[in-house]
Amino acid sequence: MPYSAQFRCISGCSARFPLHEVLYRCPSCGDLLEVEHDSTALQTRSPEEWKSLFAKRAAILRSPYNSGVWSKRELVAPHIRDENIVSLSEGNSPLQHLPRYGKSLGVEDFWIKQCGLSHTGSFKDLGMTVLVSSVAQMVADGARIPAIACASTGDTSAALSAYAASAGLQAVVILPKGKISTAQLVQPLANGALVLAVDTDFDGCMALVAELADRDGVYLANSMNSLRLEGQKTVALEIVEQLGYEVPDWIVIPGGNLGNVSALGAGFRMMSEIGLIDKIPRICVAQAEHANPLYRCFKNDFKDFEAIVASDTAASAIRIGNPISRDKAIAVLQKHQGVVEQASESELADAAARADLAGMFCCPHTGVALAAAEKLIKRGEIGPDDQVVVISTANGLKFGEFKTSFHEGNLAGVDSSSLANVPIDLPCQYSSVRETVIRFLDASD
Ligand SMILES: *Cc1c(COP(=O)(O)O)cnc(C)c1O
Ligand SMILES: [Zn+2]
Repeated sequence: MPYSAQFRCISGCSARFPLHEVLYRCPSCGDLLEVEHDSTALQTRSPEEWKSLFAKRAAILRSPYNSGVWSKRELVAPHIRDENIVSLSEGNSPLQHLPRYGKSLGVEDFWIKQCGLSHTGSFKDLGMTVLVSSVAQMVADGARIPAIACASTGDTSAALSAYAASAGLQAVVILPKGKISTAQLVQPLANGALVLAVDTDFDGCMALVAELADRDGVYLANSMNSLRLEGQKTVALEIVEQLGYEVPDWIVIPGGNLGNVSALGAGFRMMSEIGLIDKIPRICVAQAEHANPLYRCFKNDFKDFEAIVASDTAASAIRIGNPISRDKAIAVLQKHQGVVEQASESELADAAARADLAGMFCCPHTGVALAAAEKLIKRGEIGPDDQVVVISTANGLKFGEFKTSFHEGNLAGVDSSSLANVPIDLPCQYSSVRETVIRFLDASD
């Protein structure tokens, strides 16, 4: 391939390193790395040629081009050779129009990007396919990497475990003991990961996994790893492609460690560089009120970021007080006339439930994003004619406990009485079934 990319330090130091080196941070200054593409090479194809290449690949059902990530491989990871691609047909998730829900808010051009309709049920697949392919290539080229490890409570460990198993590599997952539900545990267990439940919190697990990487050559899959963001940036390309190469006015995305919004920004930057688009959307990062360090920093005009100690939230995947990608995220928001909104436990549960009543099945993180969108619409910041895309980060089916508790009326801090829906127990008797149905239909007239 004539295309190439390298790691570049995001700080002023501008050090550059080859992508096959095992690096998570800049060895000179300790800042995060990003992947820098040779845009001159990419610009030798015209925008129309890129569009027709993507359209051609979209018709291919066979792996790896049926993947939303590898169908854009020149823009994502040009260094990966065919035989090292580890793909589970990730991405190409639907962009669904929600006219009924949108209309209830006063914005009919309202869309939801269903990133949870992917192999392991979250957008983490988009990044993990690139990371695991990269490790598979290093191993094929002779590197000694005994395992890939992450500290995580949910979606990252599920994605890592599936892709590692597919590649025949060992995954090691370090989790805080007793803070993990069965549903969150079962994916890595089923995929054969070594699952360590340690008596500490997420930060404690992170410290342990970093030490394993440092001392024992285990490869670190946490989100400071910028290879993951390259895969995740394809969400921006997919949205624009699905809208017929139109750019929406607003994108609302839930944020925790803030890698995903950084990736979204990188996707738009790449499309601008190769001439696929000539405008960019405004971006709103949505945070849970119980884990809102970026919201606080936004309220202070992005001066002086302060980490906080996050507290309990149903949106467990964004319960992060000290996000690793905050500098990248702030840069993206400043470029995209961005804003940050927050949602309380009751606002996020309510918004998810109301979107469910229009046919969705939203996870709590998607609820945070919907609640934020509702606030922007109410304030008039999102106008009635704006086109809005909300990014749904995970599949609601992964969060059965949250959905069930809401409808049973025992979700902490949430009064769900007006939206709760529970089964009605009846004897096997036609008269009582009929009576109940008729009473219900009359009442909802
Ligand atoms: C990881 C995750 C997020 C947060 O993404 P960041 O990159 O950490 O901001 C949001 N929702 C779900 C479901 C996730 O798994
Ligand atoms: Zn540096």
